[in-house]
Amino acid sequence: MMRASAQLRANALVTGTDSPCTRRGRTASGRASRVARGATFGAAFAMALVTVLLAPESAWARPSPESTVAQGIDFGLPFVEPPGLGSWYLAQPYGNTIYAYYERATIYRAGQGLHMGMDFAAACGTPIAAVADGTVRSVDGPGGALPHNMMISHAGGIVSFYGHLLERPALAVGQTVTKGQAIALSGDMYETCYASPHLHLEIRDESLRRAFNPVHFIDADWHGLALLGASPQRFERNLEDPRRWQAMDDQPEITFGGPLLNNFVHALPADGS
Ligand SMILES: [Zn+2]
Repeated sequence: MMRASAQLRANALVTGTDSPCTRRGRTASGRASRVARGATFGAAFAMALVTVLLAPESAWARPSPESTVAQGIDFGLPFVEPPGLGSWYLAQPYGNTIYAYYERATIYRAGQGLHMGMDFAAACGTPIAAVADGTVRSVDGPGGALPHNMMISHAGGIVSFYGHLLERPALAVGQTVTKGQAIALSGDMYETCYASPHLHLEIRDESLRRAFNPVHFIDADWHGLALLGASPQRFERNLEDPRRWQAMDDQPEITFGGPLLNNFVHALPADGS
């Protein structure tokens, strides 16, 4: 979890965003229905099918046209050690989670009501790795996620953010880091090391105004990772559009300070249930 800084909130664009996956889905279904009605069904359908089957995940996974400059950067998981119940595991995915829905007007308000990063459960002191080559942008800078945090700038205008760190990282602003390098130690937002020890990881653009789904950047077996841990990865359901944003890799971009994206009138689970 994190709280965006007041300055960030003040500067944030008050505009909604749409996920590329959603846009892509609409385009694909629209194309499919037109093709079904048309005379060129065979050739067009085959072409579309081949396109879909051959598209590498990284091709559709990039969050926006502006961020396609990040293609080619090698992103990895934010831990030195492999996942496991004795090391770290995925605790809360990015986006339209049930917990974020409940807290949409409070701790997640700045992130349009969505969880703006990914939470990884990890005991205090678990070594955290840089997700890609880059340069330290801030140490205990903006972005909240107390007690300590840091940001690393990567090529292509992408920034990774590491929150709830155990102690102030020893790295200095401007220092270069390499992918997989140990950069910090995981901590606990309540500073108890038993209440909620976890890493909060975000991927933002360099303006820090937008947050993207880390799933679309980090090459990992996300669905396998989701099998670890005590909690199933569940998302809040809008009963008026019940299939939207129900998967770990189908979540909208976030513009900090923008309108709530999950203020659903008919929600499941309902508030407080
Ligand atoms: Zn979090």
